[in-house]
Amino acid sequence: MTPTVLVVGELQAGHLAGATREAIGVARGIPGATVVGFVAGSDARAVAPEFGKLGVARVLATAGPSFDSGYPAAAARAASAAATACGAGLVLVGGTTFGRDLAGRLAIAWNAAAATGVTELVVGEGGFRVTRPIFGGRATEVRRLEGGRAVVALRPHAYPAPTESPVAAAVENLPPVELGPLGSVQRTSVESAAAGSGPSLTDAAIVVSGGRGLRGPENFHLIEELATALGAAVGASRAVTDAGWRSTSFQVGQTGKTVSPQLYFAIGISGAIQHLVGMVSSRVIVAINSDASAPIFKVADYGIVGDLFQIVPALTAEVRRVRGLA
Ligand SMILES: Cc1cc2nc3c(=O)[nH]c(=O)nc-3n(C[C@H](O)[C@H](O)[C@H](O)COP(=O)(O)OP(=O)(O)OC[C@H]3O[C@@H](n4cnc5c(N)ncnc54)[C@H](O)[C@@H]3O)c2cc1C
Repeated sequence: MTPTVLVVGELQAGHLAGATREAIGVARGIPGATVVGFVAGSDARAVAPEFGKLGVARVLATAGPSFDSGYPAAAARAASAAATACGAGLVLVGGTTFGRDLAGRLAIAWNAAAATGVTELVVGEGGFRVTRPIFGGRATEVRRLEGGRAVVALRPHAYPAPTESPVAAAVENLPPVELGPLGSVQRTSVESAAAGSGPSLTDAAIVVSGGRGLRGPENFHLIEELATALGAAVGASRAVTDAGWRSTSFQVGQTGKTVSPQLYFAIGISGAIQHLVGMVSSRVIVAINSDASAPIFKVADYGIVGDLFQIVPALTAEVRRVRGLA
């Protein structure tokens, strides 16, 4: 089976999001698949060339301000119509908050199976086989999605961004979608959560997170300085956010954000299961903790047993020196 694969484009600041680029890479890697891009909103036509740059020659577009609010219920209707229009067997979405929300709604609208948090996807005769971490990364689940149609949300950063392979992208406008009451939902304002000045937590390639081991908010600058030196995003355990040292927008874990960067620093964080759930699929984990028996060391690739108040400033100084920032 070599399906047509529809990749739903998510926009960030008017451009294709990193998660969508990763999804395009995955779609291109499916042997024999025909890859079609889809984008909805006022900027639909403007971003089509970005699909072309990544080797996607056909882009379906649903124009209309109703989709600009990032409201997944409306986008799911449009994506369902696009999937039907191109005869897709598989729809890929990035594993962002938007993508995960969209995946479930789209699966219902398009009458398809769905899986989120997917780290491996195999397309075969019997359908789609997906692999994904469960129970906070303590186990790996393999599922078969049958029925010939599937919506798959990929785990962020589980796949590399694809190399550029430019082609001219032909854009086809789809007829307007009947949204009914969904079309009347408008975004009236956007309030940015306070979340550092660096890269966004969920998109960053490097995350530096601090925990209760920092003892108080007055010491959290140690985390921020290391993050700045590395060009990383700042994260925190729930102990930190519950204590009000940083806002909940920094929280990583079960009731916070899920991150899977290339490199994750857990500093003064014990490694409770609720924290691990949000970061265990990071490619490389570095833990700094004074307690050699802290559970974080069970998932760490590199562990430093010691006092963070000595180690972190020394590490920051060395990173600055190596990067010519000193
Ligand atoms: C329903 C539910 C949901 C939850 N959701 C989340 C969530 O989303 N995210 C989350 O993080 N937690 C969550 N928790 C809380 C979680 O169980 C832990 O309580 C929390 O993660 C602990 O944070 P911590 O590791 O910073 O603090 P602690 O567990 O207190 O660990 C502090 C660590 O710092 C080390 N340390 C102390 N001093 C130093 C030093 N000088 N140098 C180096 N190391 C030092 C200690 O050895 C210790 O290991 C949730 C809990 C529940 C019940």
